[in-house]
This record gives sequence, structure tokens and C-alpha cells, in this order.
Amino acid sequence: MMTLPISPAASALIARGLKLGGPASRMFAVLNPANGAHIADVADRSADDMHAAVARAGAAFPAWSARTAKERGAILRRWHGLVVDHADALAEVLTLEQGKPLAEARGEILFGANFIEWFAEEAKRVYGDIIPPHAPDKRCLVLKQPIGVVGAITPWNFPSGMMTRKVAPALAAGCTIVVKPAEDTPLSALALAVLAEDAGLPRNVMSVVTAAQASEVAGVLTASPDVRKLSFTGSTRVGKLLMRQCADTVKKLSLELGGNAPFIVFDDADLDAAVAGAMATKFRNAGQTCVSANRLYVQSGVMDAFARKYAEAVRALKIGDGFASGTQIGPLINAAAVEKVDGLVRDAIGKGALAVLGGGRHPHGGNFYQPTILTGVLPGMEIAGAEIFGPVAPITPFETEAEVIARANDTPYGLAAYFWSRDIGRVFRVAEALEYGMVGANEVLTSNEGAPFGGIKESGIGREGSRYGIEDFVEIKYLALGGI
Ligand code: ADP
Repeated sequence: MMTLPISPAASALIARGLKLGGPASRMFAVLNPANGAHIADVADRSADDMHAAVARAGAAFPAWSARTAKERGAILRRWHGLVVDHADALAEVLTLEQGKPLAEARGEILFGANFIEWFAEEAKRVYGDIIPPHAPDKRCLVLKQPIGVVGAITPWNFPSGMMTRKVAPALAAGCTIVVKPAEDTPLSALALAVLAEDAGLPRNVMSVVTAAQASEVAGVLTASPDVRKLSFTGSTRVGKLLMRQCADTVKKLSLELGGNAPFIVFDDADLDAAVAGAMATKFRNAGQTCVSANRLYVQSGVMDAFARKYAEAVRALKIGDGFASGTQIGPLINAAAVEKVDGLVRDAIGKGALAVLGGGRHPHGGNFYQPTILTGVLPGMEIAGAEIFGPVAPITPFETEAEVIARANDTPYGLAAYFWSRDIGRVFRVAEALEYGMVGANEVLTSNEGAPFGGIKESGIGREGSRYGIEDFVEIKYLALGGI
């Protein structure tokens, strides 16, 4: 491995992760999105390898599920402790392969660790039920049992947090799990697996299978009758594909898919707070989150004031390498992502939208894109319906509450929505009317382990985190006792 701009602790974690990931006959390169530098070569696993991993997870299931919840929780707690202890090194690995600013990466590591801690505790609270019987000599019981082997496919935008949010509840419930991380960011997943092993998690209870091309190995996860559940975070396009593939085995599914989050500013809003919220939700992770504000609607009375303050804040953003101090926005994940975002912006401008700020690739070149504000975005433009996944904010004025609710809901997506108002009646009306799984009122959500994360409509199925998150990993068994 070449010398990397990271600490010896981070290099050591990468080296151990690569060893755990194993050598393979085929390898693929992981690149630093900030400069294209080669970081490492990772095993490019085949369908046969995935079959073997699923078989090993199946073999590990009886012993793991037979452990007490307290024992499983104790291992998760140790894993949590190790992730926190290694937060700095894990953050470096994350910034190196993903590009986000180092402080944000550290935030993601701790965010991800919180799920491990939470589900270490929740392991002990998977309660069943006793139902009043329908006859005197009968008893009705509900047992909750781990679902079995789980397949997880995780994305590159939160390679650490999205993995722990799936793995921790699965392990807590007594499932074993095979994780296929995104090809752009496998090192964070491997580093987490190293620490899980150090925490005493038995081999094969969790394994990480890396591959350059997702479809071949993922096809094994979806087709195998031994995989009882698939948990996926990624695009709606791939989510639909996986859902179809899972039909033949009637697999349980959790899907966290794309969003098209509206961000609504009413004329009674605290404008400074709304601007700060719009900055956080639009530009965190360079806009590459499924809950990023995708379209800003501002009531006409405050449009000018909001747009001026927002532009001022956006203009001050510092773009650069995630390791450089003060960087607020790093590069996009890869060249294809830049091309996609730029295509949406060019289409909009070509059809009459105005780039108030930015509007193209950043002078840094490579995968950097300028923070951009667009006005005059109309329904016929591609950007109006697409998930942008980049640092581009289209702002549109609106007149009435009814009009903006209709526009906000006019999408197949239903993940996150935000609005700003100080009128308590409106807060309830709008929160209830928005067809979304998560609504932030004077708040940009800041997802956390205790809250249910997930979408409705084409944004997904199921909830992650919170006490609901573990339910996705257990089966309900009705036990009817007679002859009492
Ligand atoms: P994005 O468009 O944000 O990269 P994707 O849905 O393509 O999101 O990727 C999310 C995860 O899905 C990654 O782990 C990726 O490797 C995986 N993936 C991509 N295409 C497929 C596919 N055809 N089958 C299964 N997994 C896939």
C-alpha cells in the first residue's frame, strides 16, 4: 500500500480490514474521490463466494440465536466501545474513501456507534405477548424469533452509519448477517468488521463481502432461500429491482430508498433559523443524502429576504479536500455523480432556470461541484422531479398553504419533508398533511438512534433505528396451547 495522508492507526485499520476481507483472485481499486489517488485493492468477490458466505452465516445462526439477549448485547456493547475508541481512525478511513469533511466523518462514526449501543440495549426488550384466550382450556402466546440469515446492501453516502443501523438490530435480534458494502466505500465496512471481531463477535455471524459489480453477488442474496430477509439502502431504481428479485422467495424486505424532500418556508418563519436549516440539510455530505432538501419552496412575502440570506451563506461555504481544515463541502463520490448533477443543472438552465450562484463544476476540478442556487425551476425540467444528490438548491416561490402542500406531495417519493412556521395551528396542519415518513417542523431532523427512520410511497418499506427498528428482524410466531 502506498503512503496515505492518514494516521498510522487509520492505516493499520485499513490493513487489517483488507486482511479480513481476504485476498481474492480478482481485486478492485478503491480511490480517493478528492484526488483520484489509489487507496487500496479490495477483494472482488464472485457469486460462489457469496454462496459460501451465506452458507457460513446459516451455519452460524443456530448458536448465535441460541445465546441469551444479554450475551448478544454484551458483545454489541464491546463493539460500540471499540468504535468510539477508534472514532478518529475510522473517520479518517471514511473521509479517505468517501470525501466528506473529516469532522462530518467523525460525526457519522459516532452516529453509527449510537445504533450499536441502542440495539445492544434493545436486545433484551424483544418482548412477546400473552393474549387473553378465546376458551377456558386454551392459551394464546406470541413469540418473537430472529428471522434467520439477513442480507444487507449498503450505500456509499453513509458507509459506516448505514451499516451499523442494519447490522446492530440484526445481531441483537439473533440473526446472522452478510453485508455487501458499496463498491466506492468498502474500507469503512471492513474496518467495522475488524472491530466487531475484536469485540468477540464470532466469525461468520457477520461477514462483509466486497465486490466491484453489485448485481452478481447481490443476486445470490436475493435468490437464496437461505437468506430470509434483505435490508437495502440505496436508490429507488435498485430498490425496485431487488424487490422484484426477492419475490420468488417471498423474502422479507426493508428498503430505504430515494427521497425528494421539500423544504418549505412560510412567511411567519424564523428566517435565520430557516436559512441555517436549509444550509445544514442541503449541503451536508455535499447534498448526497436521501433526506437532503431537494426543492425549496418559499412563501412570496419572504422570498427576497430568504434568498438573499441563503445566497450569502452559500457563498461563504468552503469547498475542498475533506482532510483540509475548515472544509465544509468535499467532492462528490465519483465522476458519474458529477456528470449526473451537472446534467440536471444544464438541463434546467437550458430550459430557462437561472443559476443565482454556482451552476457548474468547481474550479478545483475532479469530482468537485460548485454549491449552486437555481431559481425559475419549472415542472418540465428534469431537476424538478429528480433526486439531485448534489449541492444544488432550487428555490421556488409559492402563495398559499394549500398550494405548497399539494406541490410538496406531488411526487412518488415520501421520505423526509421540512417546513418552517411559528404558527402552532399551521405546524399541526402541515405536519399531518405532508405525505412523508419523517417531517421536520422548524427542524432538519438530525436522524438519531432513538427515532424511526424510513419512508412511505416509493421511498421505502420499514423503519430503522428506534424500538421499531428491531421488529424488522424478528418473526412473530403464534403459539396456541390447548388441553389445559
Ligand atoms: P447510488 O445510485 O446512490 O449509488 P445504488 O442504489 O446504485 O445507489 O447503490 C446502493 C447499493 O446498491 C450499493 O451497495 C450498490 O453496490 C448496490 N447496487 C447497485 N446496483 C445494484 C444491483 N443491480 N443489484 C444489487 N445491488 C446493487
